[in-house]
Amino acid sequence: MKSRIVFFYAGIVLSALALAGYAYQDAGGRLNVKVDEEYKVCNCETCDCLTVSSVAGKCGCGNDLVTAKVTKVEKNTAYFKAAAWSKDRPFNMVGKYVCACGPTCSCKTISQKPGKCGCGSDLKMVGKESQ
Ligand SMILES: [Zn+2]
Ligand SMILES: [Zn+2]
Repeated sequence: MKSRIVFFYAGIVLSALALAGYAYQDAGGRLNVKVDEEYKVCNCETCDCLTVSSVAGKCGCGNDLVTAKVTKVEKNTAYFKAAAWSKDRPFNMVGKYVCACGPTCSCKTISQKPGKCGCGSDLKMVGKESQ
């Protein structure tokens, strides 16, 4: 009976490790931000594109990005506050879409929806090679 419980917990640990490994593999779309850094972010109230970039541009919805400051970082969520916003808004720091210009690109654009980065390239889906 006791050994069954041990196996049960071992199973949980193993699947947690597998999940962590998966998340690590998929970390290509991750943007590391620090409190007080300024980024250009999606300004749409209802949009879920959550575009974050270090250069000016438009989000997938076609609206201009606005300058916002990082107020708080929690795991994969960063809170941004723009001058015109009454309170800070949470942004997912793991983008489903990222700038396709490669690691040398300085725009660092991530988004939850397809669109263009500040350099004018189409964002690519994380996990897919650009062609
Ligand atoms: Zn948007
Ligand atoms: Zn770019």
